[in-house]
Amino acid sequence: MIDFIPRSDILSWGRTPRTQMRVANPMFRDELSGLVESGSREPNRLLATGLRRSYGDSCLNDGGAMADMTGLDRFVSFDRTSGILQAEAGVSFAEVLKLAIPAGYFLPVTPGTKFVTLGGAVANDVHGKNHHRAGTIGRWVRSIDLTRSDGTERTVNRDDPTGLFAATVGGLGLTGVMTHVTLELMPITSSNMLAESVPFGNLGEFFALAAESEATYDYTVAWIDCLANGRTLGRGVFSRACHSKDGELCVKSGVGPSIPIDVPGFFLNRLSLSAFNEMYYRFSGRRRQMTTTYDPFFYPLDAIGGWNKLYGGRGFYQYQSVVPPGAAEAATAEMLRAISHAGQGSFLAVLKTFGEVPSPGLLSFPMRGTTLALDFANRGQSTISLLDKLDAIVREAGGRLYPAKDGRLPAAMFKAGYPALDQFRAHMDPGMSSTFWRRMNQ
Ligand SMILES: Cc1cc2nc3c(=O)[nH]c(=O)nc-3n(C[C@H](O)[C@H](O)[C@H](O)COP(=O)(O)OP(=O)(O)OC[C@H]3O[C@@H](n4cnc5c(N)ncnc54)[C@H](O)[C@@H]3O)c2cc1C
Repeated sequence: MIDFIPRSDILSWGRTPRTQMRVANPMFRDELSGLVESGSREPNRLLATGLRRSYGDSCLNDGGAMADMTGLDRFVSFDRTSGILQAEAGVSFAEVLKLAIPAGYFLPVTPGTKFVTLGGAVANDVHGKNHHRAGTIGRWVRSIDLTRSDGTERTVNRDDPTGLFAATVGGLGLTGVMTHVTLELMPITSSNMLAESVPFGNLGEFFALAAESEATYDYTVAWIDCLANGRTLGRGVFSRACHSKDGELCVKSGVGPSIPIDVPGFFLNRLSLSAFNEMYYRFSGRRRQMTTTYDPFFYPLDAIGGWNKLYGGRGFYQYQSVVPPGAAEAATAEMLRAISHAGQGSFLAVLKTFGEVPSPGLLSFPMRGTTLALDFANRGQSTISLLDKLDAIVREAGGRLYPAKDGRLPAAMFKAGYPALDQFRAHMDPGMSSTFWRRMNQ
């Protein structure tokens, strides 16, 4: 029987919250039920986690137990005719791609890193650059096996009448421990992408490009220069792509050098950010078409191992909002003005429109509208004050924030943004909890 071991070195991707937890690393299915039972009796109960690519505290359980599920990483079955894959919840998207691509399949939805597990992706109902076409990952999940703290095993599928499936998709790991996920993959004939990048001078041009591109391109996203102001407010580079029909089915994973240590805090200051943003905008200053392999298109950041250390030892906050279409342009402009004024912009400012495909989870983040994702080095109170200002803009516009990206989201804002919260509570496993959940319910 394996046990929980006290650890104080477990971090989420943003590296801000510091925690003490008792952590177990199950490798085999039969180790799990005992662990779930004993972990759920800890004062702060139990949380299952994947590769901890969530930025804030939704994948942490300070003072409680954690079941690190990455050792449960076996494939169960793969039907090469239908593209239906069943695997243990600790299997990563990187491993799914290695199996799927040579067989002519791709992930139906993928976030900007392939180092996420099936369980983690489902628990956050992740979205990708094709949200306007495919919706979230939950739409492609056929079934989920769950171990609950009362000792029961449940299999729920998307036609589940009880509501447990809808609660588990996007349910932040709070409805039980996922042991297996069955996922429908998407057929492809080549692992290449036909991509185009188009510079734009302001937000109005971004919205026009998004509307035009969504009709014909599978994937759309834009990088924004969040320090630009005045006439150039909202300038950036729009990227759009489709899967190519030509070329090989080839697994490519660009894993490059790693950042070995925390970079000193002064590395990212207003000057270095402005210089980077200016250079990037100028470099991408003309429309370009290219054929590229899937890896640099979907996962550019995976090429730099441990890039989160670039923000220094105090870590960083990721801030991702979505606001409904009617308010999107004005609210985005106001947020960009506040960021530029504070001089605390990020390299990784990403703007994208979400489409109309409804998200299947009770707590899924994506809704129709425009999503803005930004990184902010943790500079203490000045950063928190800026984020509070952004909260006010998002809330006023009827939007919400993404718990997977946030270690600071105020409870009142969470409650206002997620109207199905009470419905969700009815499906929670009382043996599960997280730092995030307790913060939302203080
Ligand atoms: C570079 C980068 C780019 C990103 N881009 C995007 C993006 O484009 N779109 C997007 O949606 N997200 C994005 N993310 C966020 C990331 O996709 C999510 O946070 C994802 O859920 C992380 O998966 P994980 O395996 O690391 O899970 P973790 O972060 O470890 O956990 C996430 C949640 O899943 C739960 N969980 C994990 N495994 C299980 C299990 N077996 N049973 C029950 N619950 C479980 C945890 O309790 C937690 O609530 C990005 C993150 C990074 C670092």
